[in-house]
Amino acid sequence: MSYLIGVLKGDGIGPEIVNSSMRILKTALSQFNEPFVEFVECPIGAEAIHSHQFPVPASTIAALKKCHGWILGPHDSASYPDLLKERRNPSGELRHTFDLFANIRPSQSLPGVKSVASGVDLVIFRENTEGFYPDRNMYQGTGEWMITPDVAISTGVFTKKAITRIAHAAFQRAVERRGKVTIVHKANVIKLGSGLFLRTCQEVAKAYPQVEVEDIHIDAMAAHLVRRAGDFDVIVTENMFGDILSDLAGELVGSLGMAPSLNCNENQAMAQAAHGSAPDIAGQNIANPMGMILSTVMLCNWLHVKYQDERLKQTASLIEHTLGETLKKNLKTKDLGGNETTTQFTEAFIQTMNEVSIKGR
Ligand code: ATP
Repeated sequence: MSYLIGVLKGDGIGPEIVNSSMRILKTALSQFNEPFVEFVECPIGAEAIHSHQFPVPASTIAALKKCHGWILGPHDSASYPDLLKERRNPSGELRHTFDLFANIRPSQSLPGVKSVASGVDLVIFRENTEGFYPDRNMYQGTGEWMITPDVAISTGVFTKKAITRIAHAAFQRAVERRGKVTIVHKANVIKLGSGLFLRTCQEVAKAYPQVEVEDIHIDAMAAHLVRRAGDFDVIVTENMFGDILSDLAGELVGSLGMAPSLNCNENQAMAQAAHGSAPDIAGQNIANPMGMILSTVMLCNWLHVKYQDERLKQTASLIEHTLGETLKKNLKTKDLGGNETTTQFTEAFIQTMNEVSIKGR
């Protein structure tokens, strides 16, 4: 079997970190004599506005429909022309169009990386298609209205169907991991929306009696994560809470630049670092590509599980192992206290991968 993978570079630091990840992925794939992964580049974001007058062109959607999965760089929709700013942003558009309902965001302490919290190995299951991000909630329109110049209304949507499927995904992962799920919500105040989220997760929990379940309010959870991040295994929560908590969790283990994520349903998956396009450091060749690299690893692992193809598992393992070896050499980008540029880090990574591969032969 062979695979078709889309490559969407995005805005800001997107091209820098996607190029880095692609060089590393292609080097890892070169361990196999027969090529079995083909890549197709698709325009997105500012590049697509330039070429197609729209950040997510129909041709990109059509190309992605044929892909097994794809790699998406971050976007900087705040910089788009006003008329386009009002629409759903590119990653929201892709999650919505392809119904990528689960956003899986792991955070793990890595040896050699200085961090606020230690002993962390958790994964956040963020519901990706509704909740408090209003643009995800509408068939048409943005889900927000200005009643007067001084009054805004913003929708939150919670459906049993969407909550049920993210809860099952979270509990299934907990069974494979350390067997604990933390439901994060605010049902004491947002009684109907967040209440439905909590109740539905608790109902799903009954199908997994071997999993320990707890629930924590979102505000308390921010404190608990800082105080005792090492105690959490799987966290399940709605869209916006998950976005915020995963940035916090990413920074707690070293840097937001290290934080990976995967968006998926049963059929397709999109690798996308948890961080944004970091316009403050774009074009400076100092971005940390680790979040994007590890997102690519998540995509390979997802494809391995779906298609039971050992080559993809080997590719993911080689990249992960190499990352550990690279960090042991104290090679790090600026956000982690190192001096390597994005390019230097990538080249050192590839050199380390070649050394690791030779040793393994
Ligand atoms: P978005 O809303 O698109 O998620 P954001 O406003 O949350 O974006 P980010 O773009 O994620 O913000 O950036 C937050 C901070 O983290 C910035 O200071 C940025 O420079 C830093 N940062 C993000 N990604 C990286 C990275 N890969 N390497 C180094 N620093 C990063």
